[in-house]
Amino acid sequence: MEPASELDRIQQLLPDWLAASRRLTPTGKTAAYIPGLAAAPRDALGITILGGDGKTASFGDCALSFTLQSISKVFTLMLALMERGEDVVFSKVGMEPTGDDFNSMLKLELVEPGIPFNPLINAGAIVVSSMIPGNSPEEKTERILAFFRELAADPALDYNREVYRSESATAHRNRSLAYFLKDNRVLEDDVEEVLDVYFKHCAVEVTCSHLARMALVLAYDGNDPLTGRKLIPQRCVQIAKTFMITCGMYNASGEFAIRVGLPAKSGVSGGILTLVPGRYGIGVIGPSLNSKGNSVAGVHLLETISTELKWSMF
Ligand code: GLU
Repeated sequence: MEPASELDRIQQLLPDWLAASRRLTPTGKTAAYIPGLAAAPRDALGITILGGDGKTASFGDCALSFTLQSISKVFTLMLALMERGEDVVFSKVGMEPTGDDFNSMLKLELVEPGIPFNPLINAGAIVVSSMIPGNSPEEKTERILAFFRELAADPALDYNREVYRSESATAHRNRSLAYFLKDNRVLEDDVEEVLDVYFKHCAVEVTCSHLARMALVLAYDGNDPLTGRKLIPQRCVQIAKTFMITCGMYNASGEFAIRVGLPAKSGVSGGILTLVPGRYGIGVIGPSLNSKGNSVAGVHLLETISTELKWSMF
């Protein structure tokens, strides 16, 4: 079946699928540990699916703005890989899922050599932020924003000042992780400067269509099918997508691989970025989170669509 006709069919089915998934929102909660996220509309749910020919299927609260949070980590990882190379990146961060919470300190102390297990947990992403080229936190942030803007095809993309400030003012756990990494000499730069870059890329504000556009580039192995431009080397995308499968959905990554079967990354804002290889980039928002920290309705919606359309890669 041609992707275009599949998208037409999806567009017709989305209202019913969304209504069924939205019923789950009262079972979850918005993230409260970052004050700027707590007030997000708990019942919101939206999805945008973008094909390589530019056609979309979209429904629900797609116009809602939200911050990337952990979704940004996939892209800072690729930028660090592009700028520093695999050897440098993987000398400071591992390749394995932890089974612990995304902000856990446990294994940093327990398992030698004390480097974060992977780049998608907070400790790993903070180390990755320190690897972005630039002579100051401002330059590093500009480099990241330029990369995100190119991928999202939106030169106006920026970080949300209020969410950035509210995270920065309350990030005691991330500060302790970063100081611990500094003490272990995994982090060499000034801790506050690294965290400033990290909080800002987490606070980049998007909608579902930005996520879908960024995901589309991953679906096409680093090529933007809408412009024909090569934006990311295939190897960097391959590494990022592998991490998305093994650790992109926190401690529910195995379950998501079994139930949905697509590379994905979620964030505590309730966003989920996922893709169907060679076909679609997908953005979802649903701020009500389940106990694992993933959008409760968003995961349900993706499971429904993937099951109905047999999208699992496995
Ligand atoms: N900025 C958030 C934090 O560091 C990102 C967490 C997430 O989305 O998983 O806690």
